[in-house]
Amino acid sequence: MLKKCVICGKKFNSKNGIITCSDICYEMRKKKILEKNELIRQNKLKREHKKCPVCSKMFEVNRNHLVYCSAECREVATKDKKKKYFKKYYSENRDKIIENNSINQRKRAKTKI
Ligand SMILES: [Zn+2]
Ligand SMILES: [Zn+2]
Repeated sequence: MLKKCVICGKKFNSKNGIITCSDICYEMRKKKILEKNELIRQNKLKREHKKCPVCSKMFEVNRNHLVYCSAECREVATKDKKKKYFKKYYSENRDKIIENNSINQRKRAKTKI
């Protein structure tokens, strides 16, 4: 079956529904598809907007900013996480922490006298 190559436009005898005339054109087509996919992927990423969970600002999602709008907001979020972790730790070990504090206070009181 005579077909027109989708890359160079040359007419060639196609077997098994091949749409490129040669290995070179086949590789070219493969590359073009990959490039197209990459462009679509990048455009998708470019167009995507998210709400920053820290400052509630809408921002454009990119490689550097996937969840938070800025490095500052990311830092705030991680600090907040630490605070939450400490709260959990505190609620679980409350008695121990209070006991240690009172022992320290007693020690301090003794040294004062
Ligand atoms: Zn060709
Ligand atoms: Zn933010």
